[in-house]
Amino acid sequence: MSETTETIFSKIIRREIPANIVYEDDLALAFTDVNPQAPVHILVIPKKPLAKLADAESQDHALLGHLLLTVKRVAEAAGLDNGYRVVINNGVDGGQTVYHLHLHILGGRQMAWPPG
Ligand code: 5GP
Repeated sequence: MSETTETIFSKIIRREIPANIVYEDDLALAFTDVNPQAPVHILVIPKKPLAKLADAESQDHALLGHLLLTVKRVAEAAGLDNGYRVVINNGVDGGQTVYHLHLHILGGRQMAWPPG
């Protein structure tokens, strides 16, 4: 699975299924998670359909940096001034269920550690 991967997130990018989109630019999209695990739960995804972090290559260097800066921007806009958690689930053992790279922003409550 790599750049040709088609998932439900591709449909969200193309507006074929609805989502609560909170941020968009040429490279990235952010929308609220349909099954939130915290008072604020937002997903940041690249528009490029990279299946998972482990598939990223050196040519994705700038894109990955852009996604992290997008997380910061979206978290600030969501008012998460007291902190938040950023999660990338990668592959089967990482608990990834949608094979289009996404960064979870979780906030609005105290997070526990270690995660399950
Ligand atoms: P993963 O388990 O792959 O790290 O996270 C996938 C996330 O996508 C889950 O938190 C799940 O709730 C969310 N998700 C799955 N399908 C949809 C959808 O159709 N719309 C939205 N907004 N989120 C989705």
